[in-house]
Amino acid sequence: MAALALLAWASVACAGGFDVTVLGARGGLEDGNLSAYLVQPIGDDRAVLCDAGTVLGGLEAAQRQGALDHIAMPQAAGLTRPGYVARTIVRGYLISHAHLDHIAGLVAIAPDDAAKPIYALRSVNDTLARNVFNWAVWPNAGDRGTPPLLRQYHYQDLVAGQGVPVRGTALTITAFPLSHGSVESTAFLIEGGRNAMLYLGDTGADAIEKSTHLHDVWQAVAPLIRARRLRGIIIECSYDDARPDRLLFGHLTPRWLTSELGDLQTVAGVSLRGLPVLVAHMKPSMRVGPRPETVIMSELAAHDTTGVRFIPAEQGLRLLWK
Ligand SMILES: [Zn+2]
Ligand SMILES: [Zn+2]
Repeated sequence: MAALALLAWASVACAGGFDVTVLGARGGLEDGNLSAYLVQPIGDDRAVLCDAGTVLGGLEAAQRQGALDHIAMPQAAGLTRPGYVARTIVRGYLISHAHLDHIAGLVAIAPDDAAKPIYALRSVNDTLARNVFNWAVWPNAGDRGTPPLLRQYHYQDLVAGQGVPVRGTALTITAFPLSHGSVESTAFLIEGGRNAMLYLGDTGADAIEKSTHLHDVWQAVAPLIRARRLRGIIIECSYDDARPDRLLFGHLTPRWLTSELGDLQTVAGVSLRGLPVLVAHMKPSMRVGPRPETVIMSELAAHDTTGVRFIPAEQGLRLLWK
């Protein structure tokens, strides 16, 4: 049974939108369920993967829930459906940062993957080339770093704020830097036709990170919100409110996420009511007691002043944002 939710927040829906499937939802611990979001224009199979913590395992989980049934697959593909989606449907990876919970699935699938680009800020691509695909940790599948270069993955360095088309898709992406403790992370604005959506990798709140990066992203998407073109946001909320600020390590809690969404509404100058916000990267717990997801979702509901529609990310969940 497909976990499919139809969500239209615009009062007048315009054609198209985004087909989003959660391949991996969590920000650690569950090694088969780490950050990865398959994004396609509705009715167009050519996709990008936003982060790649869990790839083939996430596609297999999605298939078990019927969330890949809409993808047309040629009889002669000679591949399993998850294999076909990984190799052929995913045309490129958007990597927010090189922490393991965002790249483990990419590393695992690399030897059997098709050639494709990795779109990331320069610092992220350099970390992948230097510290991951370097023959010591894993064969060098890339086109940079320690020789010999297998050149299966092409590192495409993105310049902050400059939109680029994703080769082989109808999508354009624009990267914005985020502050994530000690590393640079990335928000990707994804546009297809008149529709846009925003995927944010791990990020702390501006007030904690002593940064303006989230505020800058809000300013960049504000015109799209006013024009009713932004279809949804995927953003992290790693911990519940019991986590002290000094132990956030560049992550958000419900208090900080709702505060940032309040800033977005102020910057946009219009209500965010009904805007889908997919809550990602909630950290599982090994402790007995209520699930962190349950606590986080109830705290978000309690603090929210914007009326956005919070949706907990779960592996295999498919959303149509139009
Ligand atoms: Zn993470
Ligand atoms: Zn991280």
